[in-house]
Amino acid sequence: MADMAIKVEKLVKRFGEIVAVNELSFDVRRGEICALLGGNGAGKTTTISMLLGLLIPSTGKIEILGADMLRDRYRVLSMINFSSPYVDLPKRLTSRENLMVYSRLYGIRNPKERVAGLAKDLDIDRLLDRPLGELSSGQKTRVSLAKSLLNEPDLLLLDEPTASLDPETADWVRTYLKNFQQDRGATILLASHNMSEVERLCDDVVMMKEGSIVDRASPADLLTKYGRANLEDVFLDIARGRQNAEDSEVGITA
Ligand code: ATP
Repeated sequence: MADMAIKVEKLVKRFGEIVAVNELSFDVRRGEICALLGGNGAGKTTTISMLLGLLIPSTGKIEILGADMLRDRYRVLSMINFSSPYVDLPKRLTSRENLMVYSRLYGIRNPKERVAGLAKDLDIDRLLDRPLGELSSGQKTRVSLAKSLLNEPDLLLLDEPTASLDPETADWVRTYLKNFQQDRGATILLASHNMSEVERLCDDVVMMKEGSIVDRASPADLLTKYGRANLEDVFLDIARGRQNAEDSEVGITA
């Protein structure tokens, strides 16, 4: 079994003149929670879409759970799942119908029980028979998270998993994801703009800017390197082009 859940080598994605992802290389160990951070347009969603096989890279290599995603992705697709507030589930179907359709696509053995269990876990029982299009953003996010957990994935890719959730629900979802990761030994890669979420959940942080990696370390090591008390300030340092604690001091006094 490969040690790495994700291996990315010199990944490039161009949209015409725009280079959304530029020679990106990184890996994520099995069982880790890794954050993909970066400002708007840094290339996070494009990267996640390529990891999922939804977008074809311009060049570069992606290996997921030991499989070459460009040649062999059907071998591992059933072990991966994702949730994104930017990818809608069919709106006219109820939440239950949506979850049942995806259960069948993933070949879940007892789909009714699985859907009922996740609905209870994610507190969406009362929403199950309402069309998805009628739900609030936060309610849709919870249904989408339930969808992402249907197949108990070995690798879970999350694009801003708590973006539209109220603070209490977001807190609860973070605990749920952490427990899921620990119980299953699953790997999670998440794109987030919520720095306290990243500090709390993630073992490792990949910082992106303009399609490239500008830094990579554990949250604790980043705090030390930039001499900051929280990841929010580290994010601002990196976004503003400071490279370490000395530069950060200049930034504070300037
Ligand atoms: P955000 O935090 O705002 O969600 P992001 O890091 O996820 O940003 P991406 O959505 O990956 O950023 O976008 C990276 C760059 O690629 C941006 O400049 C964006 O405009 C461009 N881009 C993304 N998708 C397309 C597309 N389908 N066609 C053209 N350009 C695109």
